[in-house]
Amino acid sequence: MMTTRRVEKLVAAQPTSDGAGVKLRRTIGTPELDHLDPFLLLDEFRSDSVADYGAGFPDHPHRGFETVTYMLAGTMEHRDDSGNRGLLTAGSVQWMTAGRGIIHSEMPRQVDGLMWGFQLWVNLPAKDKMTPPRYQDIPPDAIPERTTAGGARVRVIAGEAEGIGGPVKGIATSPLYLDVTVPAGGRFDQPVPAGMTAACYVFEGTAAIGSEGALTVPPGSLAVLGDGDSVTVAAPAVAARFLLLAARPLREPIARYGPFVMTTRDEVAQAFRDYQSGTLTRYKT
Ligand code: MN
Repeated sequence: MMTTRRVEKLVAAQPTSDGAGVKLRRTIGTPELDHLDPFLLLDEFRSDSVADYGAGFPDHPHRGFETVTYMLAGTMEHRDDSGNRGLLTAGSVQWMTAGRGIIHSEMPRQVDGLMWGFQLWVNLPAKDKMTPPRYQDIPPDAIPERTTAGGARVRVIAGEAEGIGGPVKGIATSPLYLDVTVPAGGRFDQPVPAGMTAACYVFEGTAAIGSEGALTVPPGSLAVLGDGDSVTVAAPAVAARFLLLAARPLREPIARYGPFVMTTRDEVAQAFRDYQSGTLTRYKT
């Protein structure tokens, strides 16, 4: 007997800015939803005005968690202080495990046109926070896409859907990251094991989430789902597009300050000292 997850909380995206002034819509990492274990932050950036995104995200550090950038339109260039460099093009994903430390920049490589995508922060277990950094840069054609029996189109970034596994592998919290489009009149059903944290971020159209007593979720909102072992989303009136995010909660203390997310305040203070002394990314165990 499958139990369909119901919407437990609806969080409307809050306009904010980050980096050197990039305009964002944030749902996780706000006063209304500080975190959704193990997710720490969720931003959508979407603008065709260079004034909103052109300044980008110049050099900044991270330690203790993972940043996941999924691009729908535009091109972002990534560089870090170890010489890694990559272009994030439309439809690609970068799953970056910052671990013990990374200093990087994320800068638009376009001077006009639409820039659209998402950044998700995923926490690392305490035992993995000082792991060596790791990048999984996935080009658009390496993300499998399937059409479901209910007519939905699903891109599988991480985890499994429609019997196919996503290209992102070896992540501590066993995440599911799907980009789902449900046509008007269609529906989407996906198993999500009980005990996993799960949420849908609706970014186009209007979705009806849940089975009996389904809640209507407008675009620019995060539906936090209660427990159960499956997720059902319908699009009764117009097509809906959303991210389905799920992962194993860590249930560990979170000590967070800006780009450092550790388990104790002392570890955060140490991250600051390492950054200031230039040893954040030269850490030796
Ligand atoms: Mn960053």
